[in-house]
Amino acid sequence: MPRDLATELVHHDYRPPAGFEAPQPGVFKASTVIFPSVAAVRHRDWRHKTGYTYGLHGTPTTFLLEERIAALEGGRFCCLVPSGLAAVTLVGQALLSQGDEVLLPDNVYGPSREFARNELARWGIAHRLYDPMDPGALAALIGPNTRLVWLEAPGSVTMEFPDLPALVEAARARGVTTALDNTWGAGVALRGFEHGIDIVMQALTKYPSGGGDVLMGSVVTRDEALHHRIKFTHMRLGLGVAGNDAELVLRSLSSLPLRYAAQDAAARELAAWLGTRPEVAQVLHPALEGSPGHAHWRASCQAAAGLFSVMFDERYTQAQVDAFVDALRLFRIGYSWAGPVSLVVPYLLETMRPEPRPAHLRGRLVRFSIGLEAAADLRADLAQALTTLGAPA
Ligand SMILES: *Cc1c(COP(=O)(O)O)cnc(C)c1O
Repeated sequence: MPRDLATELVHHDYRPPAGFEAPQPGVFKASTVIFPSVAAVRHRDWRHKTGYTYGLHGTPTTFLLEERIAALEGGRFCCLVPSGLAAVTLVGQALLSQGDEVLLPDNVYGPSREFARNELARWGIAHRLYDPMDPGALAALIGPNTRLVWLEAPGSVTMEFPDLPALVEAARARGVTTALDNTWGAGVALRGFEHGIDIVMQALTKYPSGGGDVLMGSVVTRDEALHHRIKFTHMRLGLGVAGNDAELVLRSLSSLPLRYAAQDAAARELAAWLGTRPEVAQVLHPALEGSPGHAHWRASCQAAAGLFSVMFDERYTQAQVDAFVDALRLFRIGYSWAGPVSLVVPYLLETMRPEPRPAHLRGRLVRFSIGLEAAADLRADLAQALTTLGAPA
């Protein structure tokens, strides 16, 4: 029986031949997955990546990206989520219950702290902040309800690099699970599982995307039971990522080591140069001598992200430092990092870190993310903007 055109446009018989191969993998997009039979509906298993059941549970495109991110981190299992922050919150939701407590470093990524302060608190889950530069202080804080120690290396914005092995040991000695926000290390400078960390999450938004145009996060484990705990919470929360977004990250992933190395070299050069300037009281870049935790960075890493902060001398007013930021032309004002465009943000420490603040945080903080422009041009941009800073007030 001839079929109507409307039906033909949906069910046309042609199937392209199998076996097509090209440098980039194909992109599969689905909410619905089609089964060949009822038996397949009954028996397919998405949990071990042996079959497909529904878009939220994975497609060839997301399974491929999960495997590559697990390899990047040196882990075995990966869950993809729609943002880096969703990776942070997924770990908390999968592992913590009413009455439990999580310990966070005092220089943790701000939205991670806000999640604990607002959402976890509503669910009866406590959090306390620890000084990541004092493993003894962490050990002393671990109590009978502590279920998770959160780690970040270096801390967000203020860039102190902790003694990771000592922090991990303090948690392990008490049988407490550890999770690392490895957005800075990106699996290149830092591999959390080599330090005995249980869970490594990353904002794929930053280095793996590298374009400033995708939001995505990952949660990687080595332990299968731990992965399944996270994976089932992931499924029940309805978290998934779009095929086109996964495609963009897959396409960028192969150049990650090259981009990381280029931004590392340029950032070190510019940070060191800013350190010679009289306007700058302190450069916060873990690979530079004199930056807090430099020795810990040297013990754990061979590379560094293209990210650093500087403390302008406290005699400059915030208005003067803001005017310096406004005077930059190649550096654009914006959050996030690891993209092609160099970025700058002045942070107000008084809203981020309560008094008393350590001595290296005296002054006015500006954070720089180095893009893929030539370092000499970025340095000229910094130099011209510094001339607008004027004399200290
Ligand atoms: C950006 C960032 C995140 C969150 O990533 P989003 O994709 O922006 O939600 C988490 N942790 C760190 C350290 C980050 O820099």
